[in-house]
Amino acid sequence: MTYVYPVISRRAGGVSVGINLNPNNACNWRCVYCQVPDLVRGSSPEIDMVQLEAELVQLLGDIMQGSFLQDHVPEGVRVLRDVAISGNGEPTSCKAFDAVVQRVVRVMGRFEFDAPVPLRLITNGSYMTKSPVQRGLQRMRGAGGEVWIKVDSATTEGLARINGVSMTSQRLFEQVRIAAQCCPTWIQTCMFADAQHIPDAHEVDAYLSFLEMLKLERVPIEGVLLYGLARPSMQGEGKKLHALDQVWMQAMAAEIVEAGMKVRLSE
Ligand code: SF4
Repeated sequence: MTYVYPVISRRAGGVSVGINLNPNNACNWRCVYCQVPDLVRGSSPEIDMVQLEAELVQLLGDIMQGSFLQDHVPEGVRVLRDVAISGNGEPTSCKAFDAVVQRVVRVMGRFEFDAPVPLRLITNGSYMTKSPVQRGLQRMRGAGGEVWIKVDSATTEGLARINGVSMTSQRLFEQVRIAAQCCPTWIQTCMFADAQHIPDAHEVDAYLSFLEMLKLERVPIEGVLLYGLARPSMQGEGKKLHALDQVWMQAMAAEIVEAGMKVRLSE
């Protein structure tokens, strides 16, 4: 399939159906830990909506009414966990983002799930100021969806080094605020050691201040999803990245809680 793919994960406890709006491997960011092979700078191409819908109907049908779970998924995790708009690039760079959400919600509505299956958007947030993206997010909220928005650093230097983007923390803040106003939003943060160096105190302080400021400004954030490096980066410079040890990650999670946020830690 071009746009739709299954992810089977014991850790996540089931199957996620992914929707990839960037089959061209194009993103406007270039994160050092990105797992997209042959990543290029760019945006989503024109989407064949008829094909996307047909692929989604086929895979959801195979999961809910066919033999997909029995044939491909280990016992104990034979359950559909979510449908995630997430792929090999930034999905909200898609010009038809709102129309895609509309179609996905409509297709999901045709199936009877045993338990609620949320529609998630995994985003770097950089198109949040665009009205069609905001409309898509509001549509997701109406369908019980949620947004996972990337915040790996809250300094201009860190954003350039980690995410390969020239941006101020004020702009990042504004993007998170817009996302949270449109749809329930979790912050997604990846932390790792770079050339054996743990994140420095200045970076950690700036990040925690960013979270505190969100609380202070009453931006309705659901919480923080804190990740370590689970899989190797597919970018050349990613070779020098290493996972942080559990003790460091747990201490970081505790600091996030102290900053007033709920946290879910995946190492
Ligand atoms: S935003 Fe996502 S797809 Fe884009 S470079 Fe970063 S990790 Fe890769």
